[in-house]
Amino acid sequence: MSLSQGKSSSRKPVFVLVGGTGDLAMRMLWPSLAMLLQDGFIDEGLRLVSVAREKVDTEEVRSRVIDALKKRVGKDLEHGTADRLVKGLTHLALDASDPDWGKKLKAELGDIDQLDVVYFLSVSPTLFKPICEQLRTAGLSNAPNRVIIEKPIGRDLDSSKVINDSVGHAFDEARTFRIDHYLGKETVQNLLALRFGNAIFEPLWTSRSIDHVQISISETVGVGDRLGYYDEYGALRDMLQNHLMQLLCLLAMEPPASLQADALRDEKVKVLRSLKPIRADNCFLTTARGQYGQGFAEGHAVAGYLAEKGGPSDTETFVAVKAEIDNWRWAGTPFYLRTGKCLPTRTTEISIQFKAVPHSIFGNEAKANRLVIRLQPEEDIALSLMNKSPGLTSDGMHLTQLDLSLSLDAVFDANGTKKPRRRIAYERLILDALNGNNAQFVRRDEVEAAWMWVDGIVKAWQTSGMKPQPYAAGSNGPTNAQLLLERDGRFWND
Ligand code: NAD
Repeated sequence: MSLSQGKSSSRKPVFVLVGGTGDLAMRMLWPSLAMLLQDGFIDEGLRLVSVAREKVDTEEVRSRVIDALKKRVGKDLEHGTADRLVKGLTHLALDASDPDWGKKLKAELGDIDQLDVVYFLSVSPTLFKPICEQLRTAGLSNAPNRVIIEKPIGRDLDSSKVINDSVGHAFDEARTFRIDHYLGKETVQNLLALRFGNAIFEPLWTSRSIDHVQISISETVGVGDRLGYYDEYGALRDMLQNHLMQLLCLLAMEPPASLQADALRDEKVKVLRSLKPIRADNCFLTTARGQYGQGFAEGHAVAGYLAEKGGPSDTETFVAVKAEIDNWRWAGTPFYLRTGKCLPTRTTEISIQFKAVPHSIFGNEAKANRLVIRLQPEEDIALSLMNKSPGLTSDGMHLTQLDLSLSLDAVFDANGTKKPRRRIAYERLILDALNGNNAQFVRRDEVEAAWMWVDGIVKAWQTSGMKPQPYAAGSNGPTNAQLLLERDGRFWND
């Protein structure tokens, strides 16, 4: 069953955006739908229903959406796209605490048996349960209707089970789409192409050839107006449990038999279940926690996390973890994961450090190869290779390290072809959900396996009394994060 163009369905497609007036909807979701419409991936027959508690009318929401499109995708927006999008949009002002929420939505939607609905719940996870319950009792959640939910899926294993149970009561697993928007990024998708579309990497993709892997997501901003939420979660739960662990899975998993959703997700979950637990007696050697203090970020003075909060807090704004995968492929090759706020640069980068040549005939001039995959700020891939330094020298041959660039932008530039527009990660994910393809969505057992490992880290910190170490805003994070690698004779690729 599909809502997108070219697929036949006797049911009429509907996209219901619960929280349609919120920040995520305005910055990401409506702009993604507009771009999908403009590029012909969805057709104008797609009915859009915004549902939120704000007492505003359809005209007001349409006008806010048009403003949001101009802000987010203004330079790519063709004349007429915004009008075509909002033409099919209606807004329903409904508070989820209204016991008749489901009935009222049903009255708005019409005969549900004639519809093929995707619900995107862009609201606080505390509302997932009441909303799914209302959808179920109103008869709005039957197949083929589907639901998309966003992180955070809980704050630990137990709370994630409560959310998953309540959603699962209304929508079975095949019709539940848990978004991790990193999975919609072009370069993240390219990891699959790189690993499984090339014969040259796979024989090297083991601990025999790879010394270690680093995955870093660094942000220049502080917590801003998310303080209330963030203080409950911290960097470990907010970023590592989902984005960093998903990247880890894609890098470390065994080759799946196909790109089918369960073939991929079966392999990812095996990685999560092979992670060596972190305990109170080893967390000081395998993790680093930090909290930004006074300093400068993005050219502005930052008062520090505690001053922003106006009280004490043990929440980490930086975390680094040495993840070890106990299986044949990766035993002995650590994956260092790191993320933090108020750092000097906004980057997302994967660095795969190969081992040095077994015997160097060039003295210490031969540096080990490194494959760097950048997701932010630019998306590119570079493989460092040793080359002979060009020219003639009287003291023999010298080496220079050069990058073999796999930058898509560069390839398109060289061909004189127009660069493809950098898509919003949600575009691909919304399109997949409309088409019923959940390969790039997170399955329940993945969420639970990730929480199980992360809960172990939280417990280790609590039992051992390991508190966040302060770091100056604008610095590279706490010194313990440097020591985490230096103890192993390694350095972050900064
Ligand atoms: P927001 O507060 O800006 O918007 C929430 C929306 O839900 C609004 O439309 C509001 O009217 C509606 N709403 C709130 N309470 C309601 C109720 N009782 N009944 C009906 N409607 C209600 O939130 P947001 O930033 O858009 O985030 C939405 C979800 O997405 C959250 O779960 C958040 O954690 C997640 N998320 C947001 C971002 C982001 O960049 N904003 C990123 C990742 C995940």
